[in-house]
Amino acid sequence: MGYEPDRLKPNGASVDRAPFSSSSGGGARRAEEASSHAQTDELTAFSLPHRNARGRIVRLGPTLATILNAHAYPPPLARLLADALVLTALLGAMLRPNEGQLTLQIQAKNAVVDLIVCDWRDGLLRGYLRHDPERLGYLGKNPSIKALLGRGHLAITLDQTASAERYQGIVPLEGATLAEMVERYFDQSEQLPTLIRTASEGTIAGGLIIQHLARRELDGERLSVADEHPDWGHVRALAGTVKPEELTDTALPLDALLWRLFNEDEVRALPPIAIGNACRCSVEHFASVLSQFPEDERAEMRGPDGLIGVDCQFCATSYRVAV
Ligand SMILES: [Zn+2]
Repeated sequence: MGYEPDRLKPNGASVDRAPFSSSSGGGARRAEEASSHAQTDELTAFSLPHRNARGRIVRLGPTLATILNAHAYPPPLARLLADALVLTALLGAMLRPNEGQLTLQIQAKNAVVDLIVCDWRDGLLRGYLRHDPERLGYLGKNPSIKALLGRGHLAITLDQTASAERYQGIVPLEGATLAEMVERYFDQSEQLPTLIRTASEGTIAGGLIIQHLARRELDGERLSVADEHPDWGHVRALAGTVKPEELTDTALPLDALLWRLFNEDEVRALPPIAIGNACRCSVEHFASVLSQFPEDERAEMRGPDGLIGVDCQFCATSYRVAV
């Protein structure tokens, strides 16, 4: 996946700072550890070499349950966060091992859901969604994504470990699903024809991304011809037949699903990689973040014990920080 450096960068700091809130202490609530190692938390990279297409297919189970259980998300929001996590895994798995962190962040102004943050680092997935419960209550059982998010933007950020460089691409929130928004991101920002499907059912979720890589070099100028390319039309038609219930069927192995979709062509699949959930929060991390606040603000945050209470929203762990 290609990134262009800092084309738009409205909120560099918020990726790290948003997913926690200062608390007055007490009420520590730890996310339940997922002890199950079902074969559902896995992702397979594949390609159709004769069609110049590559893709990723993922299914989440215990990892999704752990992330959703950290907060009591109402069903429509659990589905929205599940979609965001599937997309984050599909995009994150395009990075090389140890390349860095991929963050998918949605911010919307005055919305029922005003923040979604998910990140991926070497197979570890985290996610959090912030919402206004009172306003959600007025929306009924199956609110549209427009009703939940309204106006805002979706940002995909890559923080590269080796170079410490950050690349970010941004698209407005236009589309009926998060998958459509990310497809638009690739069309607009990367000129890379892309099809994405996601689905979730309770604490099982799945997704598929496939992209066409054919490009023509002409007199040094790179022309994207892929939109009209018959190979892409063929691949898109096959991938588009995937059903939501296939993506979430834990009895259907990912390689069997790939075969079902693409058996007309040669499909090459790498061995599946495992996905897990392990938060990277620590007292040291929050002490470092809080040290950037002015002293008078820190003084207001301190409890009677002189410590500042902080909740990590990714994993719902509470800390008391001396800073
Ligand atoms: Zn945490």
